[in-house]
Amino acid sequence: MTEIKKIGVIGAGQMGAGIAQVSAAAGYSVVLSDISLDNAKAAIEKIGASTAKLVSGKKMDAKGRDTILANMTAAGELSALGDCDLVIEAASEVESIKTSIFKELCPLLKPEALIASNTSSISITRLASSTDRPEQFMGIHFMNPVPRMKLVELIRGIATAESTFKAANEYAVDLGKTVTTSEDFPGFIVNRILMPMINEAIYTLYEGVGTVESIDTGLKLGANHPMGPLELADFIGLDTCLAIMQVLYDGLSDSKYRPCPLLVKYVEAGWLGRKTKRGFYDYRGETPVPTR
Ligand code: NAD
Repeated sequence: MTEIKKIGVIGAGQMGAGIAQVSAAAGYSVVLSDISLDNAKAAIEKIGASTAKLVSGKKMDAKGRDTILANMTAAGELSALGDCDLVIEAASEVESIKTSIFKELCPLLKPEALIASNTSSISITRLASSTDRPEQFMGIHFMNPVPRMKLVELIRGIATAESTFKAANEYAVDLGKTVTTSEDFPGFIVNRILMPMINEAIYTLYEGVGTVESIDTGLKLGANHPMGPLELADFIGLDTCLAIMQVLYDGLSDSKYRPCPLLVKYVEAGWLGRKTKRGFYDYRGETPVPTR
């Protein structure tokens, strides 16, 4: 079984940064890469700032923060990942972006290196087939925010070797996560259930059944959810929500997964939620204000 010591993370957005942080905290050496070195550096700076806050609030000790920062380096090119034992792809939820990353990545890796995708919904078997090592490829699906969420969903592709699954399982457990295993079907388990609920909340808004506030209050207090579905959609990223619904709709060929036209409109406007400071709420002021 491949011994995992050095980890490469591709995509320094909210998920990639979180995966890099928890891996570095667990003692792995981590290279965090993005399209540009500046993006990757900015993500590490952000981790520095958020962990400084945790230290001052006594939720993390200074040594823990030092370990995280000492174990991470930033990169702007995939060649920096050449000696990694495991590379986790966490770039945008667009299949063509992911497959072109794998095409460029594979020749740079050592033969025994494992590759994983953090995709929320795309077929692991199909992604694996765009690599030179489907047996050494699998889905390692972290939840957002990675440092706080306990679950990791593991997904085998049709060709995934048992040794690859075991190595990924060991890594996730080493991070202190609880593992659940899903078969390779669109959206796996978590998003097959979660995303249609979010999409239905958007339909509820679209049809005028409720306002942003009444829908979120309804589910928070009526179903005991820690976040309302529209607040959660903004947190996940509306582009990611739309991409997942599209994968469910296309992959399961069932009209019940049709993405809500209002979700499409928000994405077309570039209102992607928290990451662009506007979605179902406007985050540009002190407190979030509903946009409808
Ligand atoms: P994000 O938009 O915050 O970040 C995506 C990052 O990928 C950006 O920094 C972008 O510059 C980078 N990127 C795009 N093309 C690239 C390329 N060719 N090479 C290198 N980097 C590239 O998105 P995110 O929310 O971090 O999502 C990333 C992945 O994680 C997606 O597959 C998504 O489905 C999955 N995911 C997201 C969530 C969530 O709640 N947002 C949860 C679990 C899994």
